[in-house]
Amino acid sequence: MTLPWLKSYQRQLDDSLTHERLGHAPMVHGPAGLGKRGLARWLTARILCLQPAAGQPCGQCQSCRLLESDTHPDLFIAAVPEDKTQLPVDVIRDLTQGLQLTPSIGSTRVGLVEEADRMNRNAGNALLKTLEEPSSRAWLILVSDDPDALPATVLSRCQKIIVHPPDGQAARTWLRAQAPEVGEPDIDLALQASGGAPLRALELLEGDGLAFGREIRQTMLDAVCRQPPSPAVLAAWSTRPAEAWHWLAHWVRDFMDSALAPEERDVLAPDPIALARLWQQALEGRAMAGTPVRADLLLGKWLLEWGAQFGRQS
Ligand SMILES: [Zn+2]
Repeated sequence: MTLPWLKSYQRQLDDSLTHERLGHAPMVHGPAGLGKRGLARWLTARILCLQPAAGQPCGQCQSCRLLESDTHPDLFIAAVPEDKTQLPVDVIRDLTQGLQLTPSIGSTRVGLVEEADRMNRNAGNALLKTLEEPSSRAWLILVSDDPDALPATVLSRCQKIIVHPPDGQAARTWLRAQAPEVGEPDIDLALQASGGAPLRALELLEGDGLAFGREIRQTMLDAVCRQPPSPAVLAAWSTRPAEAWHWLAHWVRDFMDSALAPEERDVLAPDPIALARLWQQALEGRAMAGTPVRADLLLGKWLLEWGAQFGRQS
């Protein structure tokens, strides 16, 4: 099933392919939670399909059947090995060598790098050669949440396909259909916290993400009232640090934008510059999640500083 907000991207890509305007290295990028990987897989199928119909892969030819069973000999996927966090150079070399081969089924080959942001420097360099000297009738499709993490030399050689979040109404309609039992306030919060990315919002609605986010908000309010969080709370948060920092950043923004009524603002008197700094620190904390830093200590320090911003007015 095609996600409704991706249909227009499919039409554009189909049009580009039909009129031979698609560069040999398209890069699908945009925020997480929009289905970019699915779009890249669709593009792969559309390129490899032997008889596309109405702008779509037919789903029935030999090529489509091989794709369906994950055994297509002309598709080369570079994936992060299970025991690694980055895409190593040998994985990229396997892919680029594969693209040099003669196609087995149709007339094209496709290399797919779904986590392009995770290429280390050597891997990026290995890919560069293929980008600079593309083999004929071979496509290299990249997917990236964060193209800034890629070497500029790689980026400049890709044809960028930017996927944007759908408009709020479309996202809401889709979420309501996926999770009909969920109330509007939860849908609103999930969309706000996910930057409007429907798949990410759905994850929040289906798991305990929203409950976690609301717990974090309450802990922030307690910290304002000089009730610091217990070590047990911080230890629990530090098992999911990226999420914890994401929510802290979200709620600081919320406080900065709207959450305080004018009279509360006068009483609590937060310093906007300090709030902006705390917001920045939360984003940095999120970027550091996954490194061996002691997240519980950093989270505790952050909350103390947060609490200290309020109620100072004499
Ligand atoms: Zn087909």
